[in-house]
Amino acid sequence: MIYLDNASTTPMTMQTAMAIMEAQINFFGNPDSPHEIGQKVSDEVFKARKQICKRLFGNENANQIVFTSCGTEANNLAILGLKDYLIGAKRTHIVTSATEHKSVLLAVKALEREGFTATYISPGRKGYITAEQVVEAMREDTGLVSIMYVNNETGCINEIKAIQEAVHSRGNVLLHSDCVQAAGFLDLSEIQADMISVSAHKIHGPKGIGCLYFKDTETMSLMKNILYGGEQELFIRPGTLNTAGIIGFAYAVNCLPVVPADWQEIYMANALEKKVEGFHRNFHEYPCSPRIGSYRFDGVDGDTLVSALSLRGLYVSTGAACNSQSVEPSYVLIESGLTPQEASETIRVSFANGTTIGEIDEAVNIISEAVSFLRNRDAEGDQDEKAELT
Ligand code: PLP
Repeated sequence: MIYLDNASTTPMTMQTAMAIMEAQINFFGNPDSPHEIGQKVSDEVFKARKQICKRLFGNENANQIVFTSCGTEANNLAILGLKDYLIGAKRTHIVTSATEHKSVLLAVKALEREGFTATYISPGRKGYITAEQVVEAMREDTGLVSIMYVNNETGCINEIKAIQEAVHSRGNVLLHSDCVQAAGFLDLSEIQADMISVSAHKIHGPKGIGCLYFKDTETMSLMKNILYGGEQELFIRPGTLNTAGIIGFAYAVNCLPVVPADWQEIYMANALEKKVEGFHRNFHEYPCSPRIGSYRFDGVDGDTLVSALSLRGLYVSTGAACNSQSVEPSYVLIESGLTPQEASETIRVSFANGTTIGEIDEAVNIISEAVSFLRNRDAEGDQDEKAELT
């Protein structure tokens, strides 16, 4: 089997799984209990917090991380948690992109139902959002800009550094960036967003743990909890901490290579270009993540191809796993300028640091064979149909 669906989720190493299991057993206490068993766990959580902060955000501000259950919750918290502040500041206009993950889009829509207004920027055919587009979209009453770093379906990299400069030059406008697909591949310490969302299972950590990182304590102080309960995570996110998940998150982060692999997508695209007629590498003329390839094959339906590849032991996807029930073409691909036909022919191939040349060579052979098979089958079907009509 060849797994090239790492943008959906990544496998854990045995060592990370063992670290989690040991934490479940050795650090079972509640980190908020004042006794020794609790405090031992609290120390471990703090150690993990420091490691995640250092490795992902390049600093020692460990207390500016709020752990959540996933990237979805981190995105919801970043947007909904600012509601009262934005209303109080009379800055109830939000700028975001039409290609964000649903956990951003639907959180913004929820605020719109409560009287907020929002502008959704479309990247168009180039696939990425520019600082110029954000500047054009901002208004006097804009209080929040939420733009992801790397798109999860196209792999396109938004101009986040320039967007950050443009947003902050306005004063009083906060920037949130969903960095779920950027973490581990791009340097998050560079972007200086006020809030950054990350999810552990996208970087070989466990499912069920993510975080929202705050650039400073001032931004943190503007936040209100969106869940009600205890005093954990500085009152911002109540609920007993997922201590084993946090320890596993830190373990996985520590295993990330200092220099991430960046050759797999180019290697695969070149090989497909040579081997398969009617192959297209969407968006490749613009800055794209080395982790995600958005590919299409003329005349071959993406969903059908994904199923055919799965039967042959190659696992890829057509887009976000959380939208896999939808029969509509992906909104991300349409907003990124593909026609409905092109969108329906698109598959997403996503790599991990450990993906090997051998795996890619084999994947290319499998794709080539499956594409030929589906095209021949469709051609034969057409012939049969014509014969029936004549
Ligand atoms: N944001 C992006 C860009 C994603 O790709 C995903 C997951 O696919 C999420 C947010 C949600 O993360 P989680 O699965 O941890 O809720």
